[in-house]
Amino acid sequence: MEIDLGLSQSGLAGIGFLFGLVLGSFLNVVILRLPIQLNSDWRRDSRDFLGLEPESVDQVTIAKPASRCPACGAAIKPQHNIPLFSFLYLKGRCKACSAPISLQYPLVELLAALLAAFFVYQYGLSITTLYSLLFSYSLLVLTGIDLHEKLLPDQITLPLLWLGLFANLSGTFVSLDEAVVGAIGGYLSLWLVFWSFKLITGKEGMGYGDFKLLAALGAWMGWQMLPLIILISTAAGAIIGVAGIIFVGRNKEMPIAFGPFLAAAGWIAFVWGDKILSSYLGLFNL
Ligand SMILES: [Zn+2]
Repeated sequence: MEIDLGLSQSGLAGIGFLFGLVLGSFLNVVILRLPIQLNSDWRRDSRDFLGLEPESVDQVTIAKPASRCPACGAAIKPQHNIPLFSFLYLKGRCKACSAPISLQYPLVELLAALLAAFFVYQYGLSITTLYSLLFSYSLLVLTGIDLHEKLLPDQITLPLLWLGLFANLSGTFVSLDEAVVGAIGGYLSLWLVFWSFKLITGKEGMGYGDFKLLAALGAWMGWQMLPLIILISTAAGAIIGVAGIIFVGRNKEMPIAFGPFLAAAGWIAFVWGDKILSSYLGLFNL
């Protein structure tokens, strides 16, 4: 099923890019506000559980309050809230107080736009494009939140898992059998690594959110991609971890978030996994 607007592939990709910019600015809000909302939910539930009076604080949600400068609190005018362009126009500084605006905003907007252009170019206006974007944007949000908060919220990892299984009900990316085994295998393989690491070193190398994320990746791509995802993510994690210790002088006891590596490896496997595996297997004439 594909919608034909009578546009060239590049024309469609251009529209996808603009559409992706707008979605990117929404993703920025989710990255920043979902953890705040979760924290206040947890506080409220904990007070409730302990029988304490509820706090009277303004709830931050994805939808409110309106965007403000985190430095001076000035409301951001609509004309200064245009994805990417406003950042360039304002030269990366708040109009009111000229505090620097986080690079996260234009970066996420640009990535979201490139992702939309990429998938629209590849698959046109189709259900495969929609699924691929939901998948990629979820990984982008998880990466942002894990970098800030060292947390991969269930509110994203679990729906991502269900959505992967749903997409593969009709075999969009892999067969349903491969997807189910991928989800179970993804969770179990990191769970096993976690417990072996803990038994041997007494330390916790990653969190349960990482298991759920790999389960979700398995649900989207099937069990066949799990070794490749684990290989790329651990290799990249090790290289960047060691580079951080050598070049930045990072304390080696300080944990680094593994989620972004899993997300990046998962995205690479999603897009190029088949090519990588077939050229790798080709090396051995398999
Ligand atoms: Zn300001």
